[in-house]
This record gives sequence, structure tokens and C-alpha cells, in this order.
Amino acid sequence: MALPRRKKESNISFEFVPRNVWKLRKREDIETYIGGYKHFLQECKTVREAIEYFVKMLETRGFKRLSKLPIRGRGRPPTKLDVYEVYKNKTLVAFRIRPPFVKGINLVAAHLDSPKLDLKPMPIAEKEGFAIGKTHYYGGIKKYQWFNLPLAVHGTVVKTDGSTVKVRIGEDPSDPVVLITDLLPHLDRRDDPVQKLFKGEDLNVILASDTLGQKDEKEAVKKALLTLLNEKYGITEEDLVSAEIELVPALQPKDVGIDASMVGAYGHDDRVCAYTGFTALLETNNPVRSAGLVLLDREEIGSDGNTGAKHLFWMKTLKKVARIIKKDVDVEELTEVSAMLSGDVSAGVNPIFTDVHDLANAPRLNYGIAILRYTGSGGKYSTNEAHAEFVAAVRRIFNESDICWQPAEFGKVDQGGGGTVAKFFAETGIDVIDAGPPLLGMHSPFEIVSKADVYETHRAYRAFLEKFESTR
Ligand code: MN
Ligand code: MN
Repeated sequence: MALPRRKKESNISFEFVPRNVWKLRKREDIETYIGGYKHFLQECKTVREAIEYFVKMLETRGFKRLSKLPIRGRGRPPTKLDVYEVYKNKTLVAFRIRPPFVKGINLVAAHLDSPKLDLKPMPIAEKEGFAIGKTHYYGGIKKYQWFNLPLAVHGTVVKTDGSTVKVRIGEDPSDPVVLITDLLPHLDRRDDPVQKLFKGEDLNVILASDTLGQKDEKEAVKKALLTLLNEKYGITEEDLVSAEIELVPALQPKDVGIDASMVGAYGHDDRVCAYTGFTALLETNNPVRSAGLVLLDREEIGSDGNTGAKHLFWMKTLKKVARIIKKDVDVEELTEVSAMLSGDVSAGVNPIFTDVHDLANAPRLNYGIAILRYTGSGGKYSTNEAHAEFVAAVRRIFNESDICWQPAEFGKVDQGGGGTVAKFFAETGIDVIDAGPPLLGMHSPFEIVSKADVYETHRAYRAFLEKFESTR
């Protein structure tokens, strides 16, 4: 058999080349969207703050809290329903239920927690004339990055009568900040590798240094601080035992680069996916089937606990929805025809440290949403690997919707790695793949994301929520 004759003028390429988002979108559209995102980042530096923000938005957009809806209402049960539910003020699910319910649901999941320093249950001590706050770090941090960094105090104190006191110090320009002070270079002769220099027990913040007229000489600064806290917040040292006080960078989101093409902020991981997923759901008015969002806590420490992904709160909530719309649907089976994008960030190519990546399989800033078939480490351990059929179906939706996307892995094969919530959802039978923007400086107090990628991630999530039907 003869080979078909090749057309000489043919210019067709069979290469796959990710596209640069800036070349395809309007700068003003990107900037408008980013304005809202930066506001959200500044307002919400803790899980509780983010939940409050989203609930307020959902209520104004007509979503009803599920627990307030009657299970046995009069008349015909609704076929359309915009609902949400919150658990323990730290995890949230929102659904736009559309008929027929049995067709399944498209979901985006993201986590709201970020690495931070939590105050210990008995945090306040006095040392050399300073009141210090003892902390226990949360999530994977490089400890040295948290020294000499202005820190804000965000938290909730719950008293034994159940009343709560909110604390937020360090965000207003006139507020004081706290910080952990590093050793001066002149006296720093410790020659261990940098990471080993810092012990978790060294992460003590300076809280105060004034005795404020305390007569009692012993631990006068600590006593003065406790008096101050009582005057200001009505709390005692014992109340701190039932408090969640978090120290987060007292930094505002800032444009990065002379061209202002990026945003630097605390906690892009993973509030960037929470925000883009949320705005995508709000804009999803006529999805081909039901759509929803799952916002989680505890991802950074393994998704354990009843506000993390291991607690299948989203499925429980979906079962309640089924009861309200009186559909005799087995939600356990509904997951098998449903689909999810696990929204999480990935490690973008850092121009200074390129050798941790296989550059052909690494995501780059400005080239759109990165999709990761698997994460994990040590030979694909601890990950869900999305099936080729599902990857193809996601690819089709993205291509049909003109989304800039790029395939990616999480670093070189034996470099290390990381996990996401995807594998916990996969245990229910749902098809799930990781998809989110790449970052520079992940888990640092000031992470970098491309504005264009944030905008494109929002477009990608919206296309998926609105149009995904099945893997065919
Ligand atoms: Mn993450
Ligand atoms: Mn993380």
C-alpha cells in the first residue's frame, strides 16, 4: 500500500503547546476579577473568616441554608434548589440542584486552611522581660521564613458559657503586630543546614515588653499582658485553653513585578481555588446537571478531623437534599456518575530552582490551569490517579470552552511530592482530578500567583460546573 502523498504546504503541527493566557484575555477583565480576589484574601486569613465571607455571599445570592428548609413541605417538592450547609464553622458545601437529580453532580473542592502558627493552650510565658506567645506550627512550613515577619493575631476564644470573643490584631494600619525575632548574623555561628537550625519550640512570638505599672515584680510583663487582654476582650488565661488563636502574616496582598502581572499574598494555597470555585458556582446558572462546591478544613495536616475531607459531610448533605426534593436516589451510587475537580495549587517552575522539576511536565505561570492526573510521592503512593477516560472528558470541556490549560506533575519523580484531597473523594467512587493554578513560593508567608492563571482557573471551573456531563 502506498503512503498518502504529503501536501507540501502543510503547516499542521501535532505538538501540544500550552497557551499564554495574557495573549488571549483582556487585561481589564483580569484586573477586575483580581480586585475581588485581593479583597477576599485580605478579609479572610483563617478558615472561620472565609466561611463567614462565603455564607454572607451565598445568602445575598438567594442560597438557602439546608437546615432551615422543611424536609416535609406542603405541595410538590422542588426540582431546583440552591442550598448550602456549614459544619462546625469550618467546612461548607453549596449545591445548585437541577433536574434530573439522578444524572449526577459536578463538583469543585478546595481547602480553606493554610500553614500558620497556632498559639498553644497555655501560650503566654515571660522570658527576660518579654511576654512571649508559644506556638505550635500547622502544616508544612520552612520555619526560618516565619522569623522577623510581622504577624497578625486572628482568633476565636470560646468561654465556658458558650459565648465567643473574636480577636483580630495587626490588620489595621494603626494596629500593632507581633513577631518572632531571629538571631543577629554577628552572633549566628550555628553551622547546621538551615532547616535544622530552627526547632518548633523556637517559634515563640514576642507579645509584649511593658510592665504597665504592675506592682508585682515576678513575671510582671505576663501579668500586665493578661490584664490588658482582660480589659480589651474580657478573657482570662484559662479561656485561652478553649481558643483557636492563629498567627498569620500581617501582609496585605500586593501586585508583584514591575508589570504587576502577579499577586503576592499569604494563603493562595488554597484560597485561590476556593475563591475561583465559589465565583464559578455563582455564575453557573444553567448547568447541564447539578453543580456544587465543597470547601474544606485540615487539608494541610492530612484531611483528618470532622471538618476535613475524610468526613464525608458533602455526601451527608447531598442525602438530605435528596430527602427534600423527594427523589428516591441512592446518593452512594450517584457518586459513580458524578465528577469533581479537586481544586488545589501546584508548584510552578521557579526560575532560580529549576532542577526539582522535569521541565516538560512542570506547570508554568501564565499558561493557565494546571491539571495533575496524580500527585503523591515515592511511586504514586497516596494519590488518586484520574483515569484516562475522565482526563479526556475534562480536556474536551476545556478545549470546547477555549480554556488555557497545561498538564503537570508535582516535581521530579523522586524529588518529594505532596498530596491533595482528591484521593479521599475518590474513595466514594467519584471521578476526580486535581486542577488549579501553579504557584511560586508555596507554603511561604507570601506566595506568588499569576493574575492571568487565577482568572483562567475561574473560567475553567465554570466551564466544568456548567457543561460536564459524562466521560462518555
Ligand atoms: Mn493545597
Ligand atoms: Mn498546601
